[in-house]
Amino acid sequence: MARRAVDFLLVGGGVAAAHCAIELRRRGAEGSILLCGREPEPPYERPPLSKEYLRGETGRADALVRSRDWYADAGVELATGVSVVSIEPDRRLAKLQGGEEVGFGRALLATGAMVNILRVDGAQLEGIHYLRAFGNADSIRDDLEGREHVVCVGGGYIGVEVAASLTAMGTRCTIVEIEPVILARAFGEEVGRWFGELVAANGVAVRTGETVAAFEGDERVEAVLTESGSVIDCDAVVVGAGVRPDTALAGRAGLDVGDGILCDGRLETSAPGVFAAGDCCNFASELRGGRVRVEHWDVALQQGRHAARAMLGDEAPYRVVPYFFSDIHDWASLEYVGGGPEWDEVLWRGDRDSGGFSAWYVGAGRLVGALSVGRPADLIPARAMIESGEPVGERREAIADPDADLDWLA
Ligand SMILES: Cc1cc2nc3c(=O)[nH]c(=O)nc-3n(C[C@H](O)[C@H](O)[C@H](O)COP(=O)(O)OP(=O)(O)OC[C@H]3O[C@@H](n4cnc5c(N)ncnc54)[C@H](O)[C@@H]3O)c2cc1C
Repeated sequence: MARRAVDFLLVGGGVAAAHCAIELRRRGAEGSILLCGREPEPPYERPPLSKEYLRGETGRADALVRSRDWYADAGVELATGVSVVSIEPDRRLAKLQGGEEVGFGRALLATGAMVNILRVDGAQLEGIHYLRAFGNADSIRDDLEGREHVVCVGGGYIGVEVAASLTAMGTRCTIVEIEPVILARAFGEEVGRWFGELVAANGVAVRTGETVAAFEGDERVEAVLTESGSVIDCDAVVVGAGVRPDTALAGRAGLDVGDGILCDGRLETSAPGVFAAGDCCNFASELRGGRVRVEHWDVALQQGRHAARAMLGDEAPYRVVPYFFSDIHDWASLEYVGGGPEWDEVLWRGDRDSGGFSAWYVGAGRLVGALSVGRPADLIPARAMIESGEPVGERREAIADPDADLDWLA
């Protein structure tokens, strides 16, 4: 069987792998780079899949991280539609689908995450959709043409964004959420209630405290049955029930895995010379003081870049404060910095009624996160405070005063 060697093997065709390749070249790495992704397209951004791409406002080319030409011009070999089936870290050897063996100097595992599938009665019925890739978004759009009522299972950001997009496209939506409030896991109940009122005011029905017990229908889904006994008639379902890290390749390779591929603070796995980044990466966070795994676009991008620098010998730990954004159609644009550990207090800044506010999450006296809805400038001092780890103390008053200048915090 054919065997060859590359300097850098990047496994996974998402944002993390793409930005690793970009950063390697930007930093002047001259070695050979092979990027293998299982999907047929070059690496692309997933956020549009629940937003403008789902609504048919943009196309596939708009979502690409870089065009195919970029990879060719940068001397990055792009193998799309190709899985890496095994790696042997000790021998620095990978096997690709089809049997080709590739030796490598350094490797990145950026295998991302897979959606959680609901295993309940009726799960196999037609009209039940999940959303992770271009093809899923296309199926939802095609299948929903002319349909009247869709149930979105899960009131996390995917379920909420999809419900908002479908409502904007003229389909009636009901969100079914297990927690008492939508988006509560991300932002807490108080802030989640604000989003619940927002989507309800825009025509989305919200059923909270409900768990899906079964899907009903003959061949196609016709209703969602909940544990409390409610029957919600519908003619399609989109499930957004979270994801789990794809550790299959790493696990087979004998790397340490848990909730993700376990890495040190530089994003190096238990095998020297093999790094991980993005949704699959569970790293020892110096900033947070504990293990962290994040499923955000910007974190995948930043970690891909960081892994590139680490591959080139940079010893610095990964210390970027996580950043997240979401668009609930044009009803609200939100941005968030930080994330855990638990908070015990929320400080509001600005006007909730007009939708221009930020919420500051304080845990054990220190700022651990901040959410902006229409006040993005607030996140600059917030990020600085999270990074510094200084107690919030008497700054509470200034934070809660929307007119107070917070630049001094940054
Ligand atoms: C619908 C949707 C909307 C989102 N919206 C937002 C948002 O608004 N804001 C935000 O911050 N985040 C958002 N996210 C999350 C964000 O897209 C992810 O955090 C990001 O895509 C993670 O990138 P990644 O490179 O780690 O992994 P992925 O994007 O999952 O890419 C990993 C790739 O590796 C491939 N792969 C796996 N194993 C192998 C193998 N053995 N060989 C070859 N290839 C392999 C997979 O098939 C996949 O293509 C959204 C996600 C989705 C699905």
